[in-house]
Amino acid sequence: MTTPSPRPEVLTIQPYVGGESTIEGANRTVKLSSNEGAFGVPPSALAAIAAVSPEVFRYPDGGADRLRAAIGKRWGLDPARIVCGAGSDDLIYQLCLAYGGHGRDIIMSEHGFSIYHIAGTYAGSRVTKVPERNLTADLDAMLAAVSGSTRLVFLANPNNPTGSMVTEAEVARFRAALPPEVLLVLDSAYAEYVTRTDYDAGVKLVDASGNTVMTRTFSKIYGLGGMRIGWCYAPPPVVDVLNRVRGPFNVSVAAQAAAIAALSEPGWVEAGCAHNAVQRPRLTAGIEAAGIKVWPSEANFVLADLETAEAANAADAFLRSRGVIVRKVGGYGLPHCLRVTVGSAEEVDLVIEVFTEFARHARG
Ligand SMILES: *Cc1c(COP(=O)(O)O)cnc(C)c1O
Repeated sequence: MTTPSPRPEVLTIQPYVGGESTIEGANRTVKLSSNEGAFGVPPSALAAIAAVSPEVFRYPDGGADRLRAAIGKRWGLDPARIVCGAGSDDLIYQLCLAYGGHGRDIIMSEHGFSIYHIAGTYAGSRVTKVPERNLTADLDAMLAAVSGSTRLVFLANPNNPTGSMVTEAEVARFRAALPPEVLLVLDSAYAEYVTRTDYDAGVKLVDASGNTVMTRTFSKIYGLGGMRIGWCYAPPPVVDVLNRVRGPFNVSVAAQAAAIAALSEPGWVEAGCAHNAVQRPRLTAGIEAAGIKVWPSEANFVLADLETAEAANAADAFLRSRGVIVRKVGGYGLPHCLRVTVGSAEEVDLVIEVFTEFARHARG
């Protein structure tokens, strides 16, 4: 029997490792491994999903017109410059496939979001990871890595899994120094959580340049990760390209309805952001009080630094024994760290308690 083979680069891809959701034998688990919002699904989205269920024998609106109008209204953007996807991952794949390929290189930062590497390699690009400084993208080093064959640069801001952020001014300077034929993709999945005033999610740069795209998601603060819905704001030629190559019905009926409803849930984003602004520092302080370093984060998670992979594995095992699931980030080149999502206040209490107990045990 002969099994057909894919392009060779496909078999170099390591499958994406998602946050686990269960622990064998545990009856109650707290899942803090995928940076999902702390409040579940917006009630209006729940109702909208139920309301459209009799309609799901029909194909969705392939252009997501109502949703793009709602997004445009919420952010003051021209809906004609918005493309929706089955999660922002979908759009990242399409951008890589359309703008990457053999001989068309991609640059990302060392601990950048792993989907860039997967999607870029799949497209046939060489994907270069540029060393960071203090777990923050080193934009000058990324510029130095640009060659005549670079076509795409990905920058998650804030970044997952480090939580680090680069300022609006730094990103603008970066864009200005990149060659015009390089498409800069600003992945602003955690934009709603940023409270610093020197941050911009990317709208201004997209408007000011013909070669910058901003991706956003409903998977984090909007509480719809399971629905698979994201969007991007892009220059018209990029919108045109994405509309040629994306799946014609890439966003389901239920996802579109849920996202439209979530956008008008009163106070939802404000509450999520306010919660995070209180609980993230509390989580950080609590883990640090146990003697464990925590990296500064602008997102809805923190990166705890256990200093060695052995300690990180031991902490992970200890957390699991108490029903707490966090994210190992060895695949991101950070085997000595654990990423912990900011959950509810009770979940933050529990995580602090378990880290404290772990540290006490570890010290003997
Ligand atoms: C979670 C996340 C996304 C969102 O992915 P979706 O496909 O929209 O669920 C995108 N980028 C980063 C950096 C993320 O952490």
